[in-house]
Amino acid sequence: MGINKVEIGYDEKDETKGLKVRVNDDKANLQDLLDAWQPLCDDDKLRKLYAEGQHHACRACTVNCCSTAYVIPDLIAFKKMAALTGLDYPEFVARYFQEEKLKAGLLRMRPNPCAFLQDNICTIYPVRALICRFYLCCQLAGETEQLIYSLSWTGAAAAQLFAEQTGLLPMSSPSALTSFDLMFKQLIEDYRYDPRVQLFLQSGEYGDIPLAPFM
Ligand code: SF4
Ligand code: SF4
Repeated sequence: MGINKVEIGYDEKDETKGLKVRVNDDKANLQDLLDAWQPLCDDDKLRKLYAEGQHHACRACTVNCCSTAYVIPDLIAFKKMAALTGLDYPEFVARYFQEEKLKAGLLRMRPNPCAFLQDNICTIYPVRALICRFYLCCQLAGETEQLIYSLSWTGAAAAQLFAEQTGLLPMSSPSALTSFDLMFKQLIEDYRYDPRVQLFLQSGEYGDIPLAPFM
């Protein structure tokens, strides 16, 4: 049996250090990481900070963070979500993104609850954004947190650039921005000129994005 390209687990059985990603192959890509990450969502042995009893699968979780999530999708998810809805990009953005945030230059999906949540279930689960996939309400080891953070925000900055370049973000009249909006705007600015953004701009699949530049 071969070694998995990516493994995730607690560091030396010490839960307090948080979940840690270990990449065993320098050719591993983002899809390898997502494949290793997915089972964590429904692993009720993990300690999940906001889940009922702190050990609950995301499936059927009654807290359901999707009802309050702040989602700015990465570019790959953005394109796949649009394709799934059958809408062209302008229609997709108009229907599923928050108008006042678009005017302020932020590609935020309609929240409270998320526009894709129906009967407490994500209707686009297989193509949901990296931010959604990686959010687990678990303690993460520092370098793992940094890894998923840089992947998610590099992807979100690519979506922002794509939206600006294709006229999807007119930025007409900025409304009052909340502290969350300002924080996310700053993150997008921080990542906008990161050369790794090109990886998302040039790729159609997570399997096209190597992990090595993010490690
Ligand atoms: S990540 Fe969200 S859905 Fe999953 S257990 Fe935590 S609050 Fe519930
Ligand atoms: S896209 Fe799906 S997983 Fe993400 S917040 Fe919306 S309902 Fe939840």
